[in-house]
Amino acid sequence: MKEKIAPYIHLFKTSERYYVYDVNTDKILTIPESVYNFLFDYDSNKVDKSVVDFVGNMKINGFLRSDRIEVSEHPVTPLLPYYLKNKLRQLILQVTQNCNLCCDYCNYSGLYKTRTHTANTMSAKTAEKAIGFFIIHAKDSEIVPESENFFSARWFDTTYIN
Ligand code: SF4
Repeated sequence: MKEKIAPYIHLFKTSERYYVYDVNTDKILTIPESVYNFLFDYDSNKVDKSVVDFVGNMKINGFLRSDRIEVSEHPVTPLLPYYLKNKLRQLILQVTQNCNLCCDYCNYSGLYKTRTHTANTMSAKTAEKAIGFFIIHAKDSEIVPESENFFSARWFDTTYIN
């Protein structure tokens, strides 16, 4: 009945009951104290038949598996390098750290351990480089306009420089 690898579980108890959290099924079960003690000391040789039967039934029902998660990955994670290189969807430029409203609750008011407002502004050269980077890395993005339309000198001049 013993396996080399202990089941992937967490045991806990209250003043009245004993429980096992079975990680692989993501379920919490109420168990007898004798089963709790056995699972707590999984290598123990002292097991009576009622415990063996109870644990056997749990295993038949899919509990007490010893599988451990080694890698957890979102299905699209392998595509991220491609998306970052070719399919950016949005560019946000922080053109200034200045703000003339100075709201008390602002994250940058100085009340929190974060950045505070400053007189820093982004240079046109930096903005231009950011836009150039974005255009190159959004070439396969269907929601970004064609680069030559998007980055017209007129748009840049009226939106940013003036
Ligand atoms: S919340 Fe902060 S950044 Fe926004 S307007 Fe108020 S002071 Fe300015």
